[in-house]
Amino acid sequence: METQTEESSIANDKPPGCCQELKAWRFELRNSIKDIEDLVKIFPLDVEEIKCLSAVVKIYPIKITPYYLSLIDKDNPDDPIAKQCIPSPKEKDLYFNAQDDPLGEEKDTVMPGLMHRYPDRALVTLTNMCPVYCRHCTRKREWQKGSWNRQDEELDKIYKYIQDHREIRDVILSGGDPLILSTGKLENILRNLREIQHVEIIRIGTRCPVVLPQRIDEELVFTLKKYRPIWINTHFNHPNEITPESTQACDRILCAGIPVNNQTVLLRGINDEVETMTRLCQGLLKVGVRPYYLFHCDPVNGTGHLRTSIDKGLEIIKGMRGFTSGLAVPTYVVDGLDGQGKVPLQSDYLISREDNYCTLRGYRGEVFRYYYPEDKKHENRYYL
Ligand SMILES: *Cc1c(COP(=O)(O)O)cnc(C)c1O
Ligand code: SF4
Repeated sequence: METQTEESSIANDKPPGCCQELKAWRFELRNSIKDIEDLVKIFPLDVEEIKCLSAVVKIYPIKITPYYLSLIDKDNPDDPIAKQCIPSPKEKDLYFNAQDDPLGEEKDTVMPGLMHRYPDRALVTLTNMCPVYCRHCTRKREWQKGSWNRQDEELDKIYKYIQDHREIRDVILSGGDPLILSTGKLENILRNLREIQHVEIIRIGTRCPVVLPQRIDEELVFTLKKYRPIWINTHFNHPNEITPESTQACDRILCAGIPVNNQTVLLRGINDEVETMTRLCQGLLKVGVRPYYLFHCDPVNGTGHLRTSIDKGLEIIKGMRGFTSGLAVPTYVVDGLDGQGKVPLQSDYLISREDNYCTLRGYRGEVFRYYYPEDKKHENRYYL
């Protein structure tokens, strides 16, 4: 693990062709809000609030790109973008059962930077930096370690492990946000992974299309395209995030033959209504992005104020299934504690089973019997 500041990582990255022009996405990062002093220039806060939030960001730092900031409606006290990126005094509240690492990720870490929890896929953390620090982040614990990028020696060990484990056919690049690395560094990693014969697909988990769409530039897309099959998982949480900029970012990736799926986190007061979630998922389909998972918000310290009940998640999925395109309906998952893995949840459509039929509930709530094929005595479909 190499500790470095963002400025030094920027200085190390010279765009090809020795052009001195600052890339648009580098400009965004340089001009990001990085402390409470930056924040008060935009959102006036009183002395007490400044004191309180300064204490919060000592534990959970702040970073917001000018682009993402521009999506906030300052007249809306409940703005869904603001709630995702502006620190809250509530982050210091302690919640029963919340932990720094409830999913037991450290336990499933087989070496620095490599999690191998599921049989055929492995997750690589490349950095702990992100363009925007989401207040609901599951890996908030990583922010307390200073900024780091995975070192070459660590990466070499990771490639070796994957090489030695022939069952790994799916490698997930995660973080932090892997696309915060320079394109050159990223290409190096992709090339090394592609040299491993049994790695069938490479996934990249990134929020850049949503919070730093400028990052999805021609150079990046040109590079990614060479290492297909690549799948990108991004992280839209609210329909207000679907803008001309994020649409263009997704479109560029899609045009390179890289499918884009979305992982949403269910967040209290942000997207915890059927109407909002439906609008988000329909909006994603319109820009070619498939809603993949709706994650229940994990019991991570510093995120309690954003968590909902599981019933809320079930209600949202139930309110979507059948009422809109099946493609728009993500799988609702709760990540089990201590490495139990993702558990898919939906409300009960299978009410009971008998010898020759089962009782089902339709999406509108009607209950009916469904007979098994060998039964000749009854109609196939029978309303109770
Ligand atoms: C979520 C996750 C994966 C990927 O799971 P999929 O269901 O295949 O998307 C892999 N490894 C870890 C540690 C994960 O948390
Ligand atoms: S982009 Fe992902 S890893 Fe980064 S802060 Fe947000 S939730 Fe956490």
